[in-house]
Amino acid sequence: MQIEAKELSKVYGNGENTVTALNKAGLKIEAGDFISIMGPSGSGKSTLLHLLSGLDRPTSGSLTYDGRNIYDFNDKELSVFRRRRIGFIFQQFNLLPVLTARENIIMPLLLDKKQPDEAYLSQLTKLLGIDNRLTHLPHELSGGQQQRVAIARALVTQPDIVFADEPTGNLDSKSGGEVMEMLQNIWKKMGKTLVIITHDSRVACMAKRQFTIIDGILSEVDAS
Ligand code: ADP
Repeated sequence: MQIEAKELSKVYGNGENTVTALNKAGLKIEAGDFISIMGPSGSGKSTLLHLLSGLDRPTSGSLTYDGRNIYDFNDKELSVFRRRRIGFIFQQFNLLPVLTARENIIMPLLLDKKQPDEAYLSQLTKLLGIDNRLTHLPHELSGGQQQRVAIARALVTQPDIVFADEPTGNLDSKSGGEVMEMLQNIWKKMGKTLVIITHDSRVACMAKRQFTIIDGILSEVDAS
C-alpha cells in the first residue's frame, strides 16, 4: 500500500476572506510508516487530515491510494472506501454511549454486514489491555480506556492506515502516555501504518517520520 499526496491545496472562502488552509502539500506514505504531523492551532492540521483520509475534497491537487485517485470516487464510493480501508481515532473518542465497549468496537463491521474475526478481536483487545472491559458502557470506563476502545474500533476492519487526530488531547499526561505506548505497540507488533496529528512535541517525537505544518505549509523534519 502506498499513499501519495501531490500539491494538495485547500482554500476556504472567496474574495477578501480567502484562507489558504493548505498550500501545495506533498507527502508519500508507505506501508508500515508511523508519521506525526505537528503544528499550532489553525496551521492546517485538520484540513490535511480530512483531505488525506477522503473526508473532504481539495481545491486542487491529487491523492492516490495504490495509484488510484480517490477524489475521482463519488461520495458514496468514497464513504465505502473510508469505512473499509481507513481507521480513525478522534480526540473526543466518539463512542456511542448506549453501546458496550465490544458493541462500539465491532460497529464498523456491522455497518458493512460483516461478522468480527474473533481471534483478531481477542488479539487486539488483549494488546490494548481492554479484554476484561468489553461488557462495560463507555461511562463505566476511564478516559484512557475509552480511547483504547476507540483504537480497537479503528483497527477492527483491518484498515490499510489509521489516522489519529490529537489522540491524547483529551487525556491527562499519564493516560496519554499509555495511549501513545499502545499506538506504538500497534505499529511495532501489528505492522500498522499510522498518521498522528498533534500539537504536542512529546507525542510527535515518538513517530518514525516527523512533519511540521505552519500556515498551511507541510515540511518533513530531517531526523539525521
Ligand atoms: P488546525 O487543525 O491546525 O487547528 P485547521 O485545518 O482547522 O487548523 O484550519 C486551518 C485554517 O483554515 C484556519 O485559519 C481556519 O480558520 C481555516 N478554516 C478551517 N476550516 C474552515 C472552514 N470550513 N471555513 C473557513 N475557514 C476554515
